[in-house]
This record gives sequence, C-alpha cells and structure tokens, in this order.
Amino acid sequence: MKTSNWRKRVMAAGLVLLLAAAPAFDASAHGSAGLQGPDSGIPPENKEGRKAAKQSANKEKKVAVIIDDFGNGQGGTEEMLSMPIKLTVAIMPFLPTTKSDAEQAHKKGFDVLVHMPMEPKHGNPKWLGPGAITSDMTDEEVRQKVEEAIDDVPHAIGMNNHMGSKITGDERIMSIVLKVCQERGLFFVDSKTNYHSIVGKLAVNMGMPPVANHIFLDDRHTISHITGQMKAVEARAREYGNCVTIGHVGTQGQKTAAAIKSSAAEMQGRVTFVGISDLVRDIWGWHPAPILPSNNN
Ligand SMILES: [Zn+2]
Repeated sequence: MKTSNWRKRVMAAGLVLLLAAAPAFDASAHGSAGLQGPDSGIPPENKEGRKAAKQSANKEKKVAVIIDDFGNGQGGTEEMLSMPIKLTVAIMPFLPTTKSDAEQAHKKGFDVLVHMPMEPKHGNPKWLGPGAITSDMTDEEVRQKVEEAIDDVPHAIGMNNHMGSKITGDERIMSIVLKVCQERGLFFVDSKTNYHSIVGKLAVNMGMPPVANHIFLDDRHTISHITGQMKAVEARAREYGNCVTIGHVGTQGQKTAAAIKSSAAEMQGRVTFVGISDLVRDIWGWHPAPILPSNNN
C-alpha cells in the first residue's frame, strides 16, 4: 500500500491545523481557505473579472451529504438510494439490509461508510443496534468490535459514529477506533453528537484527516426545517468552499429524502454535491485504501 505520500501530506495539513486559531477539528474550513481566491475579499477590477471570479467560485462549493442509519430497511431507504445527487451512505453493521444497502449504494456510485454504534451519554441503549462499542469494554474488545464492523459492511471507505456522545469524548477508546481505521485504510468522520468530542484532535495527532459533520439536516422533522438547514449548508459552502451535512433514514426518512431532493434541485449550479471521499481527497490529500476482509473477497 502506497501510504507514505498521503501520510506526509496529512501530517503537514495537521501541523497547519494545530497552528490555526479556529477549533482544531473544524479543519475543513481551514483546509479550504486556499481554494477561496474569489471569496478573498479583494474585489475583481471589472465586470468580466467579477464574472470569471463568480464562475470560479461556483466550482469550488462542494457539499457532502451523509445519510445515516442504513442497514435496517428504514423509511426513506429507497428514496435515498435513488437520489439524483451523489450521497454518502452510513450503514450499520450486522443488520438485515446491511449488505444489500451497501451493494446498491456502491453500484449507484455513492460512498459507503460503516455507521459504528457507540454508547451515548443519554438515550435508549436499544437504539444502539448490534456490535456497539460501550465504555466498559477492554482495549481488545473495542478493537474486535471495530474490526468486525468493518468486515461486515462491503465497500466501506470510512466510518462515522452512530450516537456515541459518550464514546467520542473517551480518548482511550477513540484512539483504538482510529488506529484500527488507519490500519484498515479508512478515515473517520466525527458525526459531532458531542460538542466536546476529542476525535478531531486525535485524528490530527495520528496523521489522519479530521473530518467532521458541520450541520445536522433533520434534528427537527419538518420539511421547512430541513429546507432551511439545506440553505445553511449552502451558506457554509459559500463561505468556506465546502460543507459536510448529515441526515437520516428512519420513521421520517421519506420526508427528509423529499426535502433534500427538492433543495438539491433548487441548488443546482450553485454547489456541487460530492462524496465524502472527494472532500477528504481534495482537502487533506487522503486517498482511502480499504483493506478488504477475507469474507468480502
Ligand atoms: Zn445513527
């Protein structure tokens, strides 16, 4: 595996991040700064210049929409998998449609993540699903859970956390999770269920891309709220050149899918919808290089 080059680049990006005044894990904002010539505040001198600057700026506004909680045939699954924009689907392991969702998403050209269940500070443990990481596990047990989850989700190029407000603040456990991801050639996306998450800091220290969610789309399940969140996504992409956003399949999944679809159609030409791996490559120079488990070969 050719890893030395991207490691160097990621280490260099990490160093820059540590020096930035912004929160260390909110790296995408920083990482995109170099792409924002037209938004630099220097006014182009003439009409043509302004037009060219505008066109060039449009090219650089990238939005990665991650949809969580696949794997259990929940509401909105079909609608999301037939979405006319590129999505990233986060699939929970060991569930009835884990494998078929992954195959369908991959065929469609979507990015696939392992949606790793992790203990929250509050909330019903039943929502965690099988294979979850809990704070009472030994180092070896955590490692095994992560390995098994990666082995169960075909085509995964990265991982993000399902719930996990407790675990993403636990340095011992997250160090192991990130280490296994690194060994397996995957990156980790912090879903940001915990404002005090230490994942971004750990990722930078380990030379991994500190990818994180910026905006939850469906924390309230109304079309008007989700549409408003999509506007916030565009605003962030306009300001920083990119935005990572998370929505869900579930009891309200069809509503979320409908709102994303109509907002995306309305945003056509102003932003580009990309997979999370495109952002990870563009911002941090990281190329996922998943090491496939024997049972997926
Ligand atoms: Zn989830």
